[in-house]
Amino acid sequence: MALGIAAAAIILFLGTGGKMVSQMARSWASESSGGVDPTVVSTLMLNVALIIFIMRRHRDLVREVAERRKAEDLARELADIDPLTGCLNRRSIPPATDKLMEEASRSSRGIAFIMIDLDDFKQVNDLNGHQAGDEILRTVAERIRNLLPRDALLGRLGGDEFAIVVSYQPMLPERINALITRIIESIAQPFELGAATAEITISVGIAANHDTLAETGEPYDAQTLIHKADIAMYEAKKHGKNRSCWFEAPMEKALQVRNELEAAIRKGVKTGEFVPFYEQQIDLDTGELAGFEMLARWRSPDLGLIGPEVFIPIAEDIGIIGELSENLITQAFEDARDWDPALTLSVNISPVQLRDPWFSQKILKLLLESGFSANRLDLEITESCLLENIGVVRSMITSLKNQGVKISLDDFGTGYSSLAMLRSLPFDRIKVDRSFVGDIGKDENGSKIIKAIASLGDGLKVPVTAEGIENTIILETLKKVGKLKGQGYHYGKPEDAKAVRKRLVAADRMASLLDTPAAPEDDARRHSHG
Ligand code: C2E
Ligand code: MG
Ligand code: MG
Repeated sequence: MALGIAAAAIILFLGTGGKMVSQMARSWASESSGGVDPTVVSTLMLNVALIIFIMRRHRDLVREVAERRKAEDLARELADIDPLTGCLNRRSIPPATDKLMEEASRSSRGIAFIMIDLDDFKQVNDLNGHQAGDEILRTVAERIRNLLPRDALLGRLGGDEFAIVVSYQPMLPERINALITRIIESIAQPFELGAATAEITISVGIAANHDTLAETGEPYDAQTLIHKADIAMYEAKKHGKNRSCWFEAPMEKALQVRNELEAAIRKGVKTGEFVPFYEQQIDLDTGELAGFEMLARWRSPDLGLIGPEVFIPIAEDIGIIGELSENLITQAFEDARDWDPALTLSVNISPVQLRDPWFSQKILKLLLESGFSANRLDLEITESCLLENIGVVRSMITSLKNQGVKISLDDFGTGYSSLAMLRSLPFDRIKVDRSFVGDIGKDENGSKIIKAIASLGDGLKVPVTAEGIENTIILETLKKVGKLKGQGYHYGKPEDAKAVRKRLVAADRMASLLDTPAAPEDDARRHSHG
């Protein structure tokens, strides 16, 4: 519209200007005194003003439009780009991948979608703070970017998950493997965070679009590639750190099984399918029953009786280990309350539970609610519990020990810094891993480690329990080693609460059958808990 008005003004200007010029010419030629018509002059002036005004307005408009376009571009960029790392984001990576795939297919090249996840990044974040975490993410992006070919895409899909999309010759997948090796090496370089340094490992999953073409006859779209790369990445994570895996169809099936298992475990925790079993712990010197170790079992209506090696790692992964463990401990306190009060109860604690700052309070609350004596409780923790945040673990353990709870170092000898761990915390007991105990009797070296650990315990004044006593040869050898406690299939497999009760009734070791009157505090406690 402004341009229309400007055009009209210019035409008017030309018209009035022309009229004025002819009037002036005429007046000079006739030398008459008539001169130029004043209305023509003022019309002309008005026209000039109008043109100036409109030109200014037009310039402003052009500027406004440019600014708006810039703002729109910025908004689009913000929506497509991860502000922390400058990478593409979860929204923009699929369309960019589809586009790259199309371009690559024109030159018969394939696309590799590479999913990268930082291992244990949450812990790095917790340990060093979120600012340091952000710095690490920025540096990771930069290190990856420096290694990528020019046409590759780099995205951050969220949290600690990055994606690379790169075209390659399908006949030469080793090029992709070589790229991944360089990325792993680059990220393995320490991250300087002021006074501290952090070391990062990654897990990498790769999905190739030409594979999928062979599989279904249909080309994959970006979303499918992302899904498959994700599955491959989880497979890599399962195999440890700094690993990479190419997607293979069976992985999808395994993931489906895993998802079903997760759902069943979640449901089982809610419906009380997890139950405590108990393994006898014996004083090897006297042969007397000293207590029980509680071992979790899953009575799955579909799968039968399942051992902890299957469900504990999953419960840890999906964040329900705390709830599962508290349910089991509550049941175990209930069962053990009827036993001879001289019998102790050992409970395994997952490293994940020790990350919970309320862990010790939760245990003390369960003790209080059940009326179970803290002196009878022994928490078994493994060395991996202590690798994460020794300061926090120490203060939790100290507050539990102050209440009378004992702490044992389980599976001693299987970690990689056992001796340092032993020194760093005041353990009440060491449990020698059954792999060493099993070696006894095999050859003459078999018992040497056990002897060494027993004398270490002796020196540190920390009593020792040997796990995995499977036969009399092991038992007799251990008896000669020193004053130990022991447990193992030689005394019977772990059994449920009912079987334990039967065993204790037979041995005259149920609290209700004992002649000794209950201690006064014990009595008061029973009354207060009905
Ligand atoms: P652990 O604490 O070292 O428990 C001892 C394991 O050795 C038990 O396996 C037990 O059944 C087995 N065992 C005992 N005696 C013998 C023997 O003579 N020979 C052999 N070959 N094995 C023997 P289980 O019950 O399968 O438990 C495995 C691990 O699962 C436990 O190792 C413990 O680390 C973990 N676990 C069990 N229950 C829980 C729980 O409630 N919470 C947590 N966080 N972990 C648990
Ligand atoms: Mg144990
Ligand atoms: Mg053990």
